[in-house]
Amino acid sequence: MVSRTPIHDPVRRPGPPKPRAVWAVVAIGANLGDRRATIAQAVDDLAAVDGVLEVRPSPLVASAAVKLSGVDESAPAYLNGVAAVRTRLQPHALLDELQRIELAHGRVREERWGDRTLDLDLIAYDDETIDDERLTVPHPRAAERGFVVVPWLLLDPDATLPGVGRLDTLAAAKDGSVVPDDGVHP
Ligand code: AMP
Repeated sequence: MVSRTPIHDPVRRPGPPKPRAVWAVVAIGANLGDRRATIAQAVDDLAAVDGVLEVRPSPLVASAAVKLSGVDESAPAYLNGVAAVRTRLQPHALLDELQRIELAHGRVREERWGDRTLDLDLIAYDDETIDDERLTVPHPRAAERGFVVVPWLLLDPDATLPGVGRLDTLAAAKDGSVVPDDGVHP
């Protein structure tokens, strides 16, 4: 029998290990322009990011604008949703992408609580806790915001927020001012 010695036996050199994929939750809001189209495009933009493996958007809800002074019924109402995002990006790199997508949709940072074409907040990143000059995760106001908690529960009735617990136990889960998007009002 002829033994077959491989002439070319390349040594497989594995590249650097890929960072593990985790689930993050991003809150999406818009109260100017064609809000549904902007949010749908933002979801597509997120899904197209290198390092994002999957995006699962929630149903949308509507709520009145909240300014520093409180609820502002005279301002255009918001549409809000959340998206579960499976990603290999590190949290700050994900925030970079969120801010890039906001800017691509004409978000102008003028007034901190001002009207906006698109607002993307990183609500949670796996079960990590981060608090530095750029990023606080879990988002410190997420648990009290009906426009975050309600759509998140529509996406995942068993959702939990690190450090807080089950979302369905929160008062914000029963915020009657947050209603399903009627799909009618522009
Ligand atoms: P906003 O105008 O509400 O979108 O806030 C944006 C600012 O909040 C930016 O300077 C971010 O660096 C900072 N920031 C801190 N934590 C977060 C977070 N979890 N998600 C988004 N922005 C954050």
